[in-house]
Amino acid sequence: SSAPAPIPATLFPGDGIGPEIAEAVKQVFQAAEVPIEWEEHYVGDQIDPRTQSFLTWESLESVRRNKVGLKGPMATPIGKGHRSLNLTLRKELNLYANVRPCYSLPGYKTRYDNVNLITIRENTEGEYSGLEHQVVRGVVESLKIITRQASLRVAEYAFHYAKIHGRERVSAIHKANIMQKTDGLFLKCCREVAEKYPEITYEEVVIDNCCMMLVKNPALFDVLVMPNLYGDIISDLCAGLVGGLGLTPSCNIGEGGIALAEAVHGSAPDIAGKNLANPTALLLSAVTMLRHLELYDKAERIQNAILNTIAEGKYRTADLGGSSSTTDFTKAICGHL
Ligand code: NAD
Repeated sequence: SSAPAPIPATLFPGDGIGPEIAEAVKQVFQAAEVPIEWEEHYVGDQIDPRTQSFLTWESLESVRRNKVGLKGPMATPIGKGHRSLNLTLRKELNLYANVRPCYSLPGYKTRYDNVNLITIRENTEGEYSGLEHQVVRGVVESLKIITRQASLRVAEYAFHYAKIHGRERVSAIHKANIMQKTDGLFLKCCREVAEKYPEITYEEVVIDNCCMMLVKNPALFDVLVMPNLYGDIISDLCAGLVGGLGLTPSCNIGEGGIALAEAVHGSAPDIAGKNLANPTALLLSAVTMLRHLELYDKAERIQNAILNTIAEGKYRTADLGGSSSTTDFTKAICGHL
């Protein structure tokens, strides 16, 4: 009777392998007695005129109300007159930062075993502002927008994240030697925020040099913050350093403290419905959601159970060279809790 009230959180199982891996998360959370009550929302088969998308207004309201959620991959149906599902979520919930923890999984050998970094990507502007047009025949123009407001917001989030997670260094990634105005403003904002966090080392690294350093010695980095396009590329590069798409989690931070966690991968139509998908990326995304809720004990316990299962090597899905089904791998994780 003294048990705390369950915390409501929105769950979008999504498309393709989404429902299978979302089921794995529900089972692991139940086995670990996580005090979360899922509000499940599915992508509709009709366009909701209020959102101009297959996502309903009610499902967006659910995230706004709960402020936390977990999202499976979504495949946007082809056709005219609607917005992409991911774009709808990003715009409607103002998801301004994409956070990807990237660390070596003990027991799953890749080229490096000492990666432990976080990429934080500005998610609303830059080269992805959607402002492209033809000037005259044979000449097109694409506008890269950088604002002081969005740059300060993502820089502030990066330093705050570093501070509360005991990280020591923030690196701003840029190409300000060429993009003097845009990346220049981004850096100026990062410097301003850095001054408020004297306990955290701040450095600036040019994107091309950053790529070389990452592939030569990823342990050189701690927290990286960057504009949209660089973040898109660097975060996938980092995923590749530790074993690929089946393993990497992410979390989107939005206005008013919203956290919407999601796996980095897509709906994997080639293996959907076959009980073959690796649920690790979505599970680790759910773990980032628990950390956001400051449920650190549960987060640690679940993360350890996942890592121990993979390290033990008895149950692994096909993408990691094993032959286990999604459900057997999930059972093994529950057994390690
Ligand atoms: P994908 O990530 O779905 O698949 C790429 C390859 O990786 C496939 O061979 C797939 O089987 C494999 N894979 C991915 N996740 C896996 C997992 N958890 N376990 C085992 N194997 C896994 O990329 P795609 O094929 O380019 O995209 C398919 C659909 O997903 C498209 O409609 C795309 O728009 C959508 N998509 C959505 C998101 C999102 O919702 N955030 C992200 C990327 C792609």
